[in-house]
Amino acid sequence: MPGRLAGKTAVVTAAAQGIGEATARAFAAEEAQVWATDINTKKLSTLDNTHGIITRSCDVTDPKSITALIAETGAPDILFNCAGYVAIGTILDSTEEDWDFSFNLNVKSLFWMLRAYIPPMIANGGGSIVNMASLSSHLLGVPDRAAYTATKAAVIGITKSVAKDYLSDGIRVNAIAPATVETPSLEERIKASGNAEAARAAFIARQPMGRVGTPEEIAHLAVYLASDESSYTTGQVHVIDGAMSL
Ligand code: NAD
Repeated sequence: MPGRLAGKTAVVTAAAQGIGEATARAFAAEEAQVWATDINTKKLSTLDNTHGIITRSCDVTDPKSITALIAETGAPDILFNCAGYVAIGTILDSTEEDWDFSFNLNVKSLFWMLRAYIPPMIANGGGSIVNMASLSSHLLGVPDRAAYTATKAAVIGITKSVAKDYLSDGIRVNAIAPATVETPSLEERIKASGNAEAARAAFIARQPMGRVGTPEEIAHLAVYLASDESSYTTGQVHVIDGAMSL
């Protein structure tokens, strides 16, 4: 049996760790040719020599970096926009820097990536774009995540708008909205809390399933959305949350 993504090429951002890395590996395991990208080239290099994966540096907030990437990748069949940052804080204690940094990385990066990649993907006959949102968005208010929640609601808005605009060009655009996932950035948030044990317990308690998700569980959903198996869905938010929103 050929892999579920056999014959397809994929570009994945933020692939050096966490969900992006797990997804790059899952895409390659399903026989896609994967361009795994990140700004952290040292960590990204752990993917070197993985069958089906080529690693490249790309800063999704820098249009020049994206232009250099696209010159190599050409038009992929799959684009997974995974890069994002979790700013902690309420609206009163987040800083203007938190706000600007978050919108630049989580939202404006999509402006650059989508403007760069959609025209060649259209010329190539279409493809599947997956954007990384979060349950923390218009879907659910999460305490201490004012800027983050706003950015991920914007990601979902962009997903819907772009899905409608390029529907007839064969481009599908979906968003993934996870609850808490065990990744290096989650570990940093736990450490930064000052009481790691209590913070971990609180993160786990948020999901009625009594655990956090794994990057591989999110990658399985990304494979489905990237593949032709999901050919009848576009513009949707796919929640994967251990029942947090139930
Ligand atoms: P992470 O936060 O542990 O790693 C993020 C990666 O992004 C790093 O490798 C980093 O080098 C890279 N990166 C940072 N700035 C970049 C830039 N300008 N250009 C390219 N790459 C850049 O990863 P994660 O926790 O798996 O999160 C990935 C995505 O999933 C994010 O968009 C995050 O908001 C979203 N998400 C995560 C969780 C969670 O609980 N971990 C839950 C919901 C949504």
